[in-house]
Amino acid sequence: MELTDFAAGAQYLGGRAVPGTGAEPFDVVNPADGSTVQRVRLAARADVDEAVAAAAAALPDWSAASPASRSAALLKLSAVLSEHAAEFAAVETAQTGKPIRLATEFDVPGTIDNTAFFAGAARQLEGKAAAEYSGDHTSYVRREAIGVIGSIAPWNYPLQMAAWKVLPAVAAGNTVVLKPAELTPLTSLMFARACTLAGIPDGVVNVVTGAGREAGEHLVGHPEVAMVSFTGSTAVGKRVAELATATVKRTHLELGGKAPFVVFDDADLEAAVHGAVAGSLINSGQDCTAATRAYVQRPLYEQFVAGVAELFAAIRVGDPRNPQTDLGPLVSFTHRDRVAGFVERARDYATVVTGGSRGKLGHDGTDLTRGAFYLPTLITGAPQHSEVVQGEIFGPVLVVLPFDSDDEGLRLANDTPYGLAASAWTRDVHRSLRATRELAAGCVWVNDHIPIVSEMPHGGYRASGYGKDMSQYSLDEYTQVKHVMYDTTAVARKEWHRTIFGDPGRLG
Ligand code: NAD
Repeated sequence: MELTDFAAGAQYLGGRAVPGTGAEPFDVVNPADGSTVQRVRLAARADVDEAVAAAAAALPDWSAASPASRSAALLKLSAVLSEHAAEFAAVETAQTGKPIRLATEFDVPGTIDNTAFFAGAARQLEGKAAAEYSGDHTSYVRREAIGVIGSIAPWNYPLQMAAWKVLPAVAAGNTVVLKPAELTPLTSLMFARACTLAGIPDGVVNVVTGAGREAGEHLVGHPEVAMVSFTGSTAVGKRVAELATATVKRTHLELGGKAPFVVFDDADLEAAVHGAVAGSLINSGQDCTAATRAYVQRPLYEQFVAGVAELFAAIRVGDPRNPQTDLGPLVSFTHRDRVAGFVERARDYATVVTGGSRGKLGHDGTDLTRGAFYLPTLITGAPQHSEVVQGEIFGPVLVVLPFDSDDEGLRLANDTPYGLAASAWTRDVHRSLRATRELAAGCVWVNDHIPIVSEMPHGGYRASGYGKDMSQYSLDEYTQVKHVMYDTTAVARKEWHRTIFGDPGRLG
């Protein structure tokens, strides 16, 4: 089976690539030049039904398989992904526009490492110790698979998001129907095919490529789906939670972010400037943990702004297939226009120091006007309540604001509805300890911003959602806990029956 034989169809149902039965063809577009990467037929509700049926059929055997056998299949999957690493990177770049350097050095190896991690974690499902808590019973805990998981993923890291959704779920014995973002379904389809090549049984991992309102909502509401795992915007996450309520589904919501980047006056300025540029421009800023709001203590503020502006101007924007390119286009023309809209409106109340345009000519001669490009953009002077400070722009845009006291810096950092990630930049141990305690986010970095590891959880506070991806914590999300209690007395008339029958001996 060719992983990249997309002509076979954009759905992966029960181990087979098939076309969707949706009415309209849909073009997966390369945002670097507007060309069509693949024309697909999207899933209609019937395709979702078929995928759920395949997942339900595969569930009894997969959930009963030994942890060792599930682990072996995932180890094989990490080998298959490694063999096809270059193809995954090339397709990821074509459908998202992300620089090939990022796809090759971050997305693909990260996914392979996640897979290897969950191969090990599959054998580590644990409950509490068994004990005679009541004196008359032995109690123990079983961690059991939940069932068919409906997973919905965004377009910013399609392969990694597919992996984060699928791996802990199947490691714990569940089966999955994954709906990638319709803009970027191709590496999710490759991932599902790689599962088949690795010997993961048909139906354990299914992919439906479809629109959110159609396929997504049908999946969320499906009575045979036991849990919904969603990564995407906060607005859609709320809708998913509402729909899931009707069938009392467990939900796992990884939502938007607006990460603060707090630079105290004793910070290493060079490290902070480089960290802010890398942390805000990674994946063209289309990263839910990207540095979006830098709060810089007054003594360093001017130098910080000048340093970021200088590096932003040196970023090489161009063809994402070129390994020299630092910044590719945004994921689509529509999204680029949305990002540009934030910046244009900000001109009325703030200063656009650098960027703020689509660019014309790339560092390698690329005609930037043909793609969804947007130059690295630095904004200062924006009020704390303004939309560029409060809203998720999801583009290569960094807002920098000054603060005076530590109290003020931390207060401003926490002053948005989101709470996914944050960073603190200081050489003072007490300041850093205070910042890690007080920053309201699911991840706080000290003197860095962005790195993730398979062993550690990723997930939000507040409007950034709940539930953890990666790490042993994510396995907990995809299991349910059963208390098993054995009577140890072998007595027919138990002491506690007095609550029903009265004194012992009353009924002979
Ligand atoms: P989105 O919310 O528009 O879409 C996400 C997914 O939901 C897509 O597959 C889409 O088709 C589907 N969808 C849309 N409407 C739906 C509906 N009514 N019912 C069911 N499914 C529906 O998000 P996006 O634009 O694809 O991705 C960007 C967003 O994702 C940003 O807000 C970003 O912060 C967030 N994100 C969060 C994390 C995290 O871990 N917290 C990671 C990556 C991205």
